[in-house]
Amino acid sequence: MVFTLNARARLTPTHTFTVMSLGKAARSLVNPLRGVLRPFSPALNRSYAAVAEARAVLENELNGIRAAGTWKAERIITSKQGPQINVDGSRSSILNFCANNYLGLSSHPEVVQAGIEALQKYGAGLSSVRFICGTQDLHKNLEQKLAEFHEREDCILYASCFDANAGLFEVLLGPDDAVLSDELNHASIIDGIRLCRAQRLRYKHMDLGDLEKKLQESQSSRMRLIVTDGVFSMDGDVAPLPGICDLAEQYGAMVFIDECHATGFLGSRGRGTDELLGVMDRVHIINSTLGKALGGAAGGYTVGPKPLIDLLRQRSRPYLFSNSLPPPVVGCSTRAVELLLASNEIAQSMTAKTMRFRNKMTQAGFTISGSAHPICPVMLGDARLASVMADDMLKLGVYVIGFSYPVVPKGKARIRVQISAAHTDEDIDHCVDAFIQTGRKHGVIS
Ligand code: PLP
Repeated sequence: MVFTLNARARLTPTHTFTVMSLGKAARSLVNPLRGVLRPFSPALNRSYAAVAEARAVLENELNGIRAAGTWKAERIITSKQGPQINVDGSRSSILNFCANNYLGLSSHPEVVQAGIEALQKYGAGLSSVRFICGTQDLHKNLEQKLAEFHEREDCILYASCFDANAGLFEVLLGPDDAVLSDELNHASIIDGIRLCRAQRLRYKHMDLGDLEKKLQESQSSRMRLIVTDGVFSMDGDVAPLPGICDLAEQYGAMVFIDECHATGFLGSRGRGTDELLGVMDRVHIINSTLGKALGGAAGGYTVGPKPLIDLLRQRSRPYLFSNSLPPPVVGCSTRAVELLLASNEIAQSMTAKTMRFRNKMTQAGFTISGSAHPICPVMLGDARLASVMADDMLKLGVYVIGFSYPVVPKGKARIRVQISAAHTDEDIDHCVDAFIQTGRKHGVIS
């Protein structure tokens, strides 16, 4: 219940009546109190009615979500993130197959230690945005390491990749430019593009023919930017970057990729989709996250040409108007990047584990979308089935989540399994066995 700024601000409506009768008495004595202890007025009545109406509208919307079987309940984890977790309400530890903890670095001892040291040396936070007094040497150091990791000129940190996507397009593109965006790009890209004034063209998912048509349509624009996820998180499918780069070069466009589901583990050194597909020097701008493979704390960034990064520091709104990344978070992420710069071993450990899961599940009769990516969507179709099967998997000690509309298209509900370098072969086999048991119970496989 929202009240205007007056003495009733923290009182329930029942209390309000007490205050009002006191208010009447007080008014007769002390005139200046008028306006503070306002009488119960028609205006206040209208405001109650507005809130009641909004509440009814919201409840109706919530009931619709429940009825459609697409309600997203949050399970409470009571341990660190990792392949084994404790979930509130479950007796023993649970195998976790739904984190973006691709490299198992979220609770890596060196990553945690680096966070502790940064906390001790630099404090909990900056109480400031970067350009006022929120830039520490550790922010500059991480930016420099990320630019080195991606082999790009410069880097700018954000509080999240959502912010990096919200802040990029508006700065880079004006009304004379065009942005060509895959129709299944992440929500944060869609929102970021909405904020910019460029001509917007959506091409069909990974369809190079349609992209070419849109490039032809936008030839009169000053600049063109092709925008795609490197890996699409719902299906684990990889963007056809060589073809995209060919078209970009043919039609004079720049290429942007969002690498949240690739940085750290795709490609021979874990640099991402551009390394995997041999186009590191043909992709111009990358946004990615520190909240998944790179330690999993939080944060995002843009890497690319120096003038772009310089301009983002001057103009990008989520950078200018939001607090600096906390030092412990920067400390953890920096150590994660250092581990990957020092060795390819962790990055390379993913593939065998991913293929073990995919092959065993396919042999058992399940349909797994995507190809060699650790995102392994077990396709089920029906939203309620995905949700009920995920609940049954939890009873068998495996934590997975059902995804349904609006996160994925209607009729394409699935359980998205994510493999981590920290899973053992036994963990993966246990997960497959649980799927076989629940899949048979619900008639998904015979
Ligand atoms: N882009 C993609 C493709 C993502 O999957 C996500 C996170 O789910 C984001 C951007 C946002 O990243 P962050 O969690 O750092 O805001």
